[in-house]
Amino acid sequence: MPLANTFAALPPAFYTRLMPTPLPAPYFVAASAPAARLIGLDPALLAQPDYVELLSGNSVAERSLPLAAVYSGHQFGVWAGQLGDGRAILLGDIATASGPMELQLKGAGATPYSRMGDGRAVLRSSIREFLCSEAMAALGIPTSRALAIMGSNQGIVRETVETAAVVTRMAPSFVRFGSFEHWYARKKPAELKILADYVIDSFYPQLRDSANPYASLLQEVCTRTAHMIAHWQAVGFMHGVMNTDNMSILGLTLDYGPFGFMEAFDAEHICNHTDSQGRYSYANQPQVGHRNCHALGQALLPLIGEVPLAQAALDSYEPAFAAKMNELLRAKLGLRTEQGDDTRLFDAMFAVMQANHVDFTNFFRALGNLQLHAPDSDAPLRDMFIDRPAFDAWAVQYRARLLAEHSVDAARKLAMDQVNPKYVLRNYLAQVAIDKAQQQDYAEVAQLLAVLQKPFDEQPEHQHYAALPPDWASHLEVSCSS
Ligand code: AMP
Ligand code: MG
Repeated sequence: MPLANTFAALPPAFYTRLMPTPLPAPYFVAASAPAARLIGLDPALLAQPDYVELLSGNSVAERSLPLAAVYSGHQFGVWAGQLGDGRAILLGDIATASGPMELQLKGAGATPYSRMGDGRAVLRSSIREFLCSEAMAALGIPTSRALAIMGSNQGIVRETVETAAVVTRMAPSFVRFGSFEHWYARKKPAELKILADYVIDSFYPQLRDSANPYASLLQEVCTRTAHMIAHWQAVGFMHGVMNTDNMSILGLTLDYGPFGFMEAFDAEHICNHTDSQGRYSYANQPQVGHRNCHALGQALLPLIGEVPLAQAALDSYEPAFAAKMNELLRAKLGLRTEQGDDTRLFDAMFAVMQANHVDFTNFFRALGNLQLHAPDSDAPLRDMFIDRPAFDAWAVQYRARLLAEHSVDAARKLAMDQVNPKYVLRNYLAQVAIDKAQQQDYAEVAQLLAVLQKPFDEQPEHQHYAALPPDWASHLEVSCSS
């Protein structure tokens, strides 16, 4: 594997060079073919012994300079001080058609930043991160990728004893908001500047010539973050731990832990059992994104120099979010034009979804079947609502809006089916795959991945993957334990 390590060219203060801790008797669990192709690898190779060794941290490619990066961050609104890659090891980067892609092993052993942790990840959380990264990519949402999972029978203590696994993640960079906060908190402007220049030169070269490149960087990150979160809201994705150390400087969805996809719609839903206050609920995500950008702005202030410039960059967040959210919602409703009162239509829709706790994914998918001149065709859609008259009242508004823009049923359905997924990673689907994998049966991980890689296709043979959660799933709790 032809690896360089561009990040390793930064001064030593930014990381600790170290080797992964070998994983006892590693074996292949799963791989993503599209992720492999992205870095020019034949996916079939990933199950071969050489790659099992490499992607479990048991051997290291020739030019690789493995390292763990340092960062800090705000966790649940509180300054947490130094964190860093406590169990992730950057192997290096690999050239691709769209620029260098970093490869990182997650769960590859303790580092100087492990604090009380063991440096490992369990198979359960590794499968969740692997599946969701690839599912989000297939949904067209900016995200880090997952190449493969390698497992081991090594016991790992969490609430119970589980087994270990290593996920290979890929992203152009794993630099986080917290990477900047780290040097700001330590009052090290020189290091702050080195990091900002590295990020601009490597990933935002077009900003180099702007009047104030650091203000432009903040503005660009605000825009990307706002757009990413609009995408999350539009598919009902909840990250679960939007701490600043989990916010990517490239606006990628990063650090999949206790995430969830909205099922019975409740804007206040909290996917992370550990988040007792609901700080990172579905409804709160957009404003948390803004607040996290503030933390980044604060950290960049010594470079930006003038508060009004930083403020102006931060002020771009809300309009960027609103514009993207409205664009995505119009697409979800199959609207081709923009009208002044669209947000009233959206608000009324969410109110009736909320009151009836309709399944988020299935509602939008079914909405594409609505026929303009045949209200009887609404039956399957109406049946999702307990209060059917409330749905009917909203459908009257929606039909009027569609008629006003001369919408055509067949064309609208085609367009809506390309933005309203039929398949998302419901918690219970992940749990079924995890339960089987814990019995050494990995076929369901591969099957579920295959379904999620084509989320907009009907796949009638896989219809059951779009089913509502079974009764047993109401007891599923997802926490920070990973
Ligand atoms: P997370 O909530 O997974 O984003 O992790 C927050 C911080 O804790 C990061 O610095 C991680 O590297 C670290 N961490 C989480 N789990 C472990 C573990 N098992 N061993 C070492 N460090 C960990
Ligand atoms: Mg993290």
